[in-house]
Amino acid sequence: MDKVVSLCKRRGFIFQGSDIYGGLSNTWDYGPFGVELKNNLKRAWWKSLVYERNDIFGMDTAILMHPKVWEASGHVDNFFDLKSDCKSCKKRFKAEDLKGKKFCPECGGELTEARAFNLMFKTYQGPIEDAANLIYLRPETAQGMFVNFLNILDTKHPKLPFGIAQIGKSFRNEITPGNFTFRTREFEQMEIEYFVNPAEADKIYEYWVDARFDWYLGLGMKADNLRKRPHDKTELAHYAKACTDMEYNFPFGWSELEGVANRTNFDLKQHAALSGKDMRYFDEVAKERFYPYIIEPSGGVDRSVLAFLTDAYNEEKVKDETRVVMKLNKELAPVKAAVFPLLRNRPEIVELAKKIAQDLKKSFVTVYDDTGAIGKLYRRQDEVGTLCCITVDVQSLEDQQVTVRDRDTMLQDRINIDQLKQYLEKKLT
Ligand code: ATP
Repeated sequence: MDKVVSLCKRRGFIFQGSDIYGGLSNTWDYGPFGVELKNNLKRAWWKSLVYERNDIFGMDTAILMHPKVWEASGHVDNFFDLKSDCKSCKKRFKAEDLKGKKFCPECGGELTEARAFNLMFKTYQGPIEDAANLIYLRPETAQGMFVNFLNILDTKHPKLPFGIAQIGKSFRNEITPGNFTFRTREFEQMEIEYFVNPAEADKIYEYWVDARFDWYLGLGMKADNLRKRPHDKTELAHYAKACTDMEYNFPFGWSELEGVANRTNFDLKQHAALSGKDMRYFDEVAKERFYPYIIEPSGGVDRSVLAFLTDAYNEEKVKDETRVVMKLNKELAPVKAAVFPLLRNRPEIVELAKKIAQDLKKSFVTVYDDTGAIGKLYRRQDEVGTLCCITVDVQSLEDQQVTVRDRDTMLQDRINIDQLKQYLEKKLT
């Protein structure tokens, strides 16, 4: 894990948040390559779930929601963790992590009684800080989609089964954040709420468990590092009938990337009860109204980015050197091509290399770099996961050809400059 964290900082994937002030603990800023990777991941998710299907509608709903939403969802009453503090070293623990221990696992000091702690961030809407203006930062994006169920029915007129998809920030005042970006208080989720006829819920739940598992593999995640873990009945959230986690084999152990849950009709019924709106679906064939069940695949963007970074990290022996290479799948790789001049002191070569980079930038994320010797430039791009490195040399000025080196095989092709775009397109599709 340390190697991945250090590469993330060194190469500009992820930095400590508020770094110049000594950092705000457990906050992270995505740098130039991190934001590209994150956007590529979100785009891949959106493409496969919204653009390539006819039954899922995208949304982007507000983070701040009516306080009744969180009463209806059960978050005001149930979104608690039990915490215990060490009276000596003051360290805070989640009661479930203590597994019944009476003394501090760090220093052996006495622990306080476990106390309930609501994980929702509170704030006030407007200038007056009183109970009437109390609102929360959303702890999940899901509720934004449930409260728009009727809007989607009225504007898109879908038939069951259909879904709503959303990617956005969520906030939880976690007691024990940590493991780099794995558990933070501000994070991004990618969630689908898929509305189904209750009679079909079990079958469609199984479908989503498999579909979401395959999505990670399709983006190049190693099969040995991914597993499904169905929840015991005792683990299920108060609203859920079934849940299966997709777990990734992180360096700190198998941990949840995404959960697929059968949320039953709990949320729609609750919102109907508290809003007074009829949130049932009318089935035109059966001529009846009922509350659909909801199957929810709910994944974390930051956790997936971390899993893909960990999965892609490779060290290879090349002669007597160690080559560090991020073998990110072509869809996820933040940079598709890098262009270098072989000789930095030859203006015609530099000019041609810059022109090639500029032309490619219109079609692919491309960088130009002339800040080191060629070996160093290759190593730098390998660590970012750049798919192709293009070198312009003296010969290029005469034959209008360049050398293209493949990240994974390190094999080199000599390609005509006017064929580069097609060459890269072929590699990327
Ligand atoms: P955990 O058990 O790890 O706290 P959870 O089961 O409470 O997670 P869900 O409520 O199912 O998580 O949220 C769906 C997804 O959102 C998770 O699978 C995870 O990828 C992401 N997620 C949840 N909490 C966090 C967090 N604190 N930091 C980063 N990602 C998170």
